[in-house]
Amino acid sequence: MPFTSLGLSPALLRAVSARDYLSPTAIQAASIPAVLQGRDVLASAQTGSGKTAAFALPLLQLLQQAPSEKPRRVRLLVLVPTRELAAQVGEEIRSLGQHLPQALKIAVVFGGVSINSQMMHLRGGADIVVATPGRLLDLADHNAVVLSGVAALVLDEADRLLDLGFAEELSRILALLPAQRQTLFFSATFPPAVQALAQGLLREPVHIDAPAEPEGEPDIMQRAIAVDPGRRTQLLRHLIGQNGWRRVLVFVATKHAAEMVADKLRKARINAEPFHGELSQGKRTQVLADFKASRLKVVIATDVASRGIDIAQLPVVLNYDLPRSVQDYVHRIGRTGRAGESGLALSFVSADTEAHWRLIEKHQQLQLPREQVAGFEPLRVAPAEAPSTGGIKGKRPSKKDKLRAAASGL
Ligand code: AMP
Repeated sequence: MPFTSLGLSPALLRAVSARDYLSPTAIQAASIPAVLQGRDVLASAQTGSGKTAAFALPLLQLLQQAPSEKPRRVRLLVLVPTRELAAQVGEEIRSLGQHLPQALKIAVVFGGVSINSQMMHLRGGADIVVATPGRLLDLADHNAVVLSGVAALVLDEADRLLDLGFAEELSRILALLPAQRQTLFFSATFPPAVQALAQGLLREPVHIDAPAEPEGEPDIMQRAIAVDPGRRTQLLRHLIGQNGWRRVLVFVATKHAAEMVADKLRKARINAEPFHGELSQGKRTQVLADFKASRLKVVIATDVASRGIDIAQLPVVLNYDLPRSVQDYVHRIGRTGRAGESGLALSFVSADTEAHWRLIEKHQQLQLPREQVAGFEPLRVAPAEAPSTGGIKGKRPSKKDKLRAAASGL
């Protein structure tokens, strides 16, 4: 089905083709006509499904079709869980709306940066606000934003909004919105709390169940490389050079490791920056922008970068440190192979992390060979997997075992 059959205006179709979207993703094909008809939407959708354009395109069109009597009154509110997602969604809406005959003002607001510049930006109003809940409430409390004219509300990644503890902020925001409005609800998962929230917000919604990626399952090749911990930075340098990687996202366990590895790479004249939660928001935004614009080759990140961040054409993700949980692994490797491209997810595994890696493999239903790179063969190799003793968990000493061992002086 082509985009032209969905009822979108020529200005929006022009923006779609400027972004090289050839045909609508499943969620776009289902959501665009429904939203244009004014329906509420309840969509089960992951990042990577094309959900941003699925709500942005029809809502931009509705905004243009029904100009507000009062200019610059917030009519579309998009709530998102994180700053990164706010910036990303704001950017996509701006890009999709750029050819509209009447320019719309978009304000993107999130915490962690000074509120003053956001208050200045909101002076004189805005047509669209993309916000994280906490900062939006702060702005509302300062009378910097008025939400009584909102005609459409989008909850993006509703499950994560609740996971991050925004339930109370959400209900305070909802109380500021008119009851008569269109609501679009997107979530990757539907635990009871998310279902209850959806039920309270939506009126006879159209249900949409979208696959995770625009072109079916993501095409991510997963590989494991055996290496001793002390040689990982050298091996990383070697792999970057040997494979000519242009853009690599490397995950580490701590902020300290992110700083240290980035530092070592820079000393080897590889353009690298750390990315972690203790950098200022300005710095984080700058690092991502530089990475996307190919001014940076390597970003060394903690798990703050494992969710929600969308970098088109990211061919390689590398786990320098293994993630703590299988969920984090899935999120990390999901940064590559987006929008139908293929991706490579490499993991460094050592004798010490072998058992943990097996656990990840088991959940991923994988059994990968432990590859070795010439010149970086590990000196310590993990013993082969013992015959099933009830899984990895059973092989680890329990808390009680450790206490007993400590008590006996072992
Ligand atoms: P999202 O799920 O909104 O985070 O989008 C994931 C990625 O898919 C983004 O890089 C979008 O720019 C891209 N995308 C969205 N719609 C399409 C489309 N119809 N065709 C190709 N790529 C798309």
